[in-house]
Amino acid sequence: MSYTVPFNRPYLTGHELEYVSQAIQNGDLSGDGPFSRRCCQLLEERFDVGKVLLTPSCTAALEIAMLLLDLKPGEEVILPSFTFVSSANAVVLAGGKPVFVDVDPTTLNLDPALVAQAITDKTRAIMPVHYAGVGCDMHALVALAESHQLTVVEDAAQALNAFFDERALGTIGHLGAYSFHQTKNFSCGEGGALCINDERLIERAEIIREKGTNRSQFLKGHVDKYTWVDRGSSYLPSELVAAFLYGQLGSVDVITEMRQRCYQTYLQELKPLEEKGLLQLPVVPERCRSNYHLFHILLPTQTERDALLKHLNSQGIHAVFHYIPLHSSPAGRRLSGSEVELPVTDSISSRLLRLPIYPDLEPELQQQVISEIVSLLNV
Ligand SMILES: *Cc1c(COP(=O)(O)O)cnc(C)c1O
Repeated sequence: MSYTVPFNRPYLTGHELEYVSQAIQNGDLSGDGPFSRRCCQLLEERFDVGKVLLTPSCTAALEIAMLLLDLKPGEEVILPSFTFVSSANAVVLAGGKPVFVDVDPTTLNLDPALVAQAITDKTRAIMPVHYAGVGCDMHALVALAESHQLTVVEDAAQALNAFFDERALGTIGHLGAYSFHQTKNFSCGEGGALCINDERLIERAEIIREKGTNRSQFLKGHVDKYTWVDRGSSYLPSELVAAFLYGQLGSVDVITEMRQRCYQTYLQELKPLEEKGLLQLPVVPERCRSNYHLFHILLPTQTERDALLKHLNSQGIHAVFHYIPLHSSPAGRRLSGSEVELPVTDSISSRLLRLPIYPDLEPELQQQVISEIVSLLNV
């Protein structure tokens, strides 16, 4: 079905084609060429990161992060169940056990008190997921990790150009992973990046990313030939992808402002419905600066959520819900046991609705979304 108001629409800055054709003219299309370097440098400087490596996806960046931990069978990584599958898959592929913890009912982010309770002598890492581009309580999570000597790997897939205490999300933990998937704020179709904030991890991350070879050290002239030195895989995007991405990264502020405008409009116009108790609007805590990645509302019950979803879809508006909580999915139950109980996650995921938001969402179309919500709920 085609919708009058799509859920998402890729936004082009106008520079992408020019850079892609430059990359073609450069004649070298494999990874880590000039455009890859420019993207990494831009991210490193702008967000104050020690080292950024481009990857084919955020999924791949999370995989590298988990391989760096050298998990032994049975070792655990704490993460929310209310997240995309890639967060948990990375743990499983690296041989570890995902331990799902409940989230805070207002931010929908990891609840540090529950993380503290979940730490055992097998815990190796905490993976905060910054839902909607709003930061987890990194102050509390980093303190917990320090006191138990755990690694912090931020799933910052949704959180590029969002901040906690004025520090960029993805750059606060030891490692952080960004996504440049089409549905994210800054995109190259499929793409990602790994931020390495602990310099002891840089060299090995480069090896894992280069098929387990020391090719990066060879290219820097540190060794005179390169060879197989560790486990690894192929985690480099091509220059074509990096060139497109560079066209996007030059417009981080413009894109964020355009999204902010949509976000504020929803917030303002739906406020009266919240005051009547008909829905709950998203909350950005004081210490956080959002990148307005998504706009979600919580309905009082699943029945009301499903009715609104159906109504909007029938009016040509592509609203969607997510996530099926990982702990209740078939793989999640198999891996972490069927006895896991996460009441907040169960509740919010059954009542959540995401509204269309993208930089050039036409004001008339957004008004249409708003008036359909008002007309159905405000009877
Ligand atoms: C989008 C997303 C991912 C996966 O990103 P890809 O670049 O598609 O691999 C992982 N985690 C979260 C929380 C996401 O939103």
